[in-house]
Amino acid sequence: MSPLVKRIQNDQELPAKADVVVIGGGIVGASAAFFLAERGLSVALVEKGHVGCEQSSRNWGWCRQQNRDARELPLSGVALQLWDEFAGKIGEDTGFRRCGLLYATDSPQQLAEWEKWRDTARQFNVNTKMLSPRQAEATIPANGRRWLGGVHSIDDGKAEPAIAAPTIANGARRFGATIHQECAARGLDLANGAVAGVITEKGLIRTQAVLCAGGAWTSLFCRQYGVRFPQASVRQTALRTRPTADLGEAIYTPECSLTRRLDGSYTLAISGRATLDITPQGLRYARWFMPMFLKRLKSVQIGIGKSFFHGPEAFGSWNSDKPSPFERTRVLDPAPSRRTIAAILDRVTKQFPAMAGVEVADSWGAYVDCTPDAVPVISAADDVKGLYLAAGGSGHGFGLGPGIGRLAADLVANDPPCVDPTPFRLSRFLDGSRVKVGAI
Ligand SMILES: Cc1cc2nc3c(=O)[nH]c(=O)nc-3n(C[C@H](O)[C@H](O)[C@H](O)COP(=O)(O)OP(=O)(O)OC[C@H]3O[C@@H](n4cnc5c(N)ncnc54)[C@H](O)[C@@H]3O)c2cc1C
Repeated sequence: MSPLVKRIQNDQELPAKADVVVIGGGIVGASAAFFLAERGLSVALVEKGHVGCEQSSRNWGWCRQQNRDARELPLSGVALQLWDEFAGKIGEDTGFRRCGLLYATDSPQQLAEWEKWRDTARQFNVNTKMLSPRQAEATIPANGRRWLGGVHSIDDGKAEPAIAAPTIANGARRFGATIHQECAARGLDLANGAVAGVITEKGLIRTQAVLCAGGAWTSLFCRQYGVRFPQASVRQTALRTRPTADLGEAIYTPECSLTRRLDGSYTLAISGRATLDITPQGLRYARWFMPMFLKRLKSVQIGIGKSFFHGPEAFGSWNSDKPSPFERTRVLDPAPSRRTIAAILDRVTKQFPAMAGVEVADSWGAYVDCTPDAVPVISAADDVKGLYLAAGGSGHGFGLGPGIGRLAADLVANDPPCVDPTPFRLSRFLDGSRVKVGAI
């Protein structure tokens, strides 16, 4: 079942032309539309379902620098600043709060990794503090657990997945962008190998610049034009409680994670637990994903199911004058795993007895789109002039989303980039560069 997400107004009439068409109304597409429109460009955002309907409403909401790969840290600093600014610029709340994030563990290996990451944190001035066993136990008192230590990432925070992307899309509209929901982009109109328009299910929009921010669907969309984007999705489950006892804002333990929402309910999940479905696209790009797969073998189960035949990773070819796979699955809404829901509730209530008897308001599944090195792609597609990609959040693209959207807007508008875009270029997967798997 889909989680709650704020619904926003639709612009019925498709513009005949736009400076930029953004495909996909997740946190990345909404942010990119915002930053493009803010600088005076005409922008049409097309979304096959409704804004925020896929990953961007299904996540925990953590917006962090803590434990990020060094390649992402400059952009994550930009992202946090942009999160700070949205409410003032838009006049609506995204739910972003610099509440800090708390981590505790009883695993010596995990503690050592966090300790080691402090070298990276120092290089980028990240405000983070290791917690002694006593401090960890005082901040995250868990029944029957003796923590070896923990981390307090002081300047990080969380935003509200149910409202963030729609609010930012509304902000883009304030600067003149038009938002078209239930409007799938089927393909591109090309002239001499360059973008001349976007063919949507509701008609053509003439443009010379397209940003594909289609989350898990990005590779499928780009493949039509010979653009190879190695992308694979893993399936995860999370749930939302009804408003309940206040245990803190954002807590990670090896067993479970808890994130308090604005209404006093919690999003509960198990970090890292995921299923990798075998799909035609997965087989196509298996070689690229082998290093990541080997690194995460313990926490990922292998599955096979409907996604072999339907959805973003299935076989697919279509003509742009007929319904495409994008409108056949308006909202990618996999069923949550019942086993995982039971495990989440069991772990949370054992560790935090105050949660005993907590009521589940809803639960959902989601596909998390990943790149082989777990770093997003924010890049021109070199072979198609005017086509840009921004996808591959790899399980941590919500917090980074405004930064991804901002950098994508810089590239599309040919403005000075807010950070060095080199680590995010698509060609790193195709030019023989070594794949170094980052943190998820
Ligand atoms: C359980 C879970 C927990 C997570 N926790 C966190 C977290 O705490 N912090 C964090 O930073 N990240 C987290 N993530 C990851 C985060 O949610 C994603 O990285 C991020 O939301 C990706 O945003 P996006 O805009 O790229 O993609 P999406 O939100 O998936 O948006 C893509 C949109 O494009 C649309 N679309 C696709 N193709 C077309 C087309 N052809 N035409 C029109 N529209 C199209 C889709 O309908 C969709 O709405 C989590 C993810 C999950 C599932």
